[in-house]
Amino acid sequence: MLAFSYEALPSRVVFGPGSLDQLPEEVVRLRAEKALVLCTPEQRSTAEDVARRLGERAAGIYDRAVMHVPIETAREARQRARDLGADACVAVGGGSTIGLGKAIALRSELPILAVPTTYAGSEMTPIWGLTEGEAKRTGRDARVLPRAVIYDAELTLSLPPASSASSGMNAIAHAVEALYAEDANPIISLMAEEAIRALARSLPVVVQLPADLAGRSEAQYGCWLAGACLGAVGMALHHKLCHTLGGSFDLPHAEVHSIVIAHAAAFNRDAAPEAMARVARALGASDAATGLYDLARRLGVKMRLADIGMAADALDGAADLATQNPYYNPRPVEWESVRRLLQDAYDGRRPEP
Ligand code: NAD
Repeated sequence: MLAFSYEALPSRVVFGPGSLDQLPEEVVRLRAEKALVLCTPEQRSTAEDVARRLGERAAGIYDRAVMHVPIETAREARQRARDLGADACVAVGGGSTIGLGKAIALRSELPILAVPTTYAGSEMTPIWGLTEGEAKRTGRDARVLPRAVIYDAELTLSLPPASSASSGMNAIAHAVEALYAEDANPIISLMAEEAIRALARSLPVVVQLPADLAGRSEAQYGCWLAGACLGAVGMALHHKLCHTLGGSFDLPHAEVHSIVIAHAAAFNRDAAPEAMARVARALGASDAATGLYDLARRLGVKMRLADIGMAADALDGAADLATQNPYYNPRPVEWESVRRLLQDAYDGRRPEP
């Protein structure tokens, strides 16, 4: 019997190639006078273009965003915003830069306008993360949800094919887990299925023809939907594993997601048959787990944890961490079965059909 609760998140989305032209109006709409532009050192020139477009409404550029949002960086950026009299932030980049914007908003309540340039989906979520020493803390807070998002696929043209593929698989992973989330609901499940369909169709085009704007735009459409799924419902074992592997073993975020998702789907196959049928249908495959594996292989992403810096003798420790305080998962999370999953991901073994 259908029973659910659903709450829509208040965010505004402007979508389409060339939509960065609307940035000045969007900043005015936020009633902001001076916006601090955030970016990574590598994306400085993109941020300079953004600041140029803002003209007098640009407070300056802070170009030190890095992965995992170290608390020192968040403090420094917040101080810079204060010194420059900024009353908003424009975060242009991937999850790391948008994460920095969220860390600023968490303490200062400055509104964020996000201009995503990867497919990670952070712009659609109220989830923040901060790293202090070795420990990464995360949480949900409505204040960090970007007030407006500009999805301009032209800004994704420079994302290399390999990063595009793993970032796109990261987005697919949000949608897969949304379909079997503890608080899954019909509207988010529709979005999740459509996200997987759009990404499975567009990512092979993006990898083969990185300059194809139509392919890029469809991938961005899928990543918007997948990000909205991540923002709306809880995640399960796959995200717990990726959080553990990324945070405690310093493995690259998107690549971990793209390797683990097929194995997580195989793990949950019998416990979430309806969700798996929807994933398979969206992929145009007969089975979710093998369909995800085959898509990743077709995209040319790394297929083995062994290839991205995981040590074989660290797998036991990873299974320990992943089974401590586990997230909700449709199938019970037990050490032996998680350890087997990790071994399969380490070896890059194709799931049994
Ligand atoms: P990223 O933001 O770390 O970017 C990776 C690299 O790619 C950076 O050097 C960046 O400058 C570069 N880059 C980004 N876009 C580019 C483009 N269009 N062209 C050329 N280079 C480009 O990578 P990510 O995968 O987007 O984000 C990962 C981080 O985001 C992780 O820390 C993860 O935990 C976090 N995240 C958070 C959420 C959330 O909801 N809070 C969701 C997804 C990811």
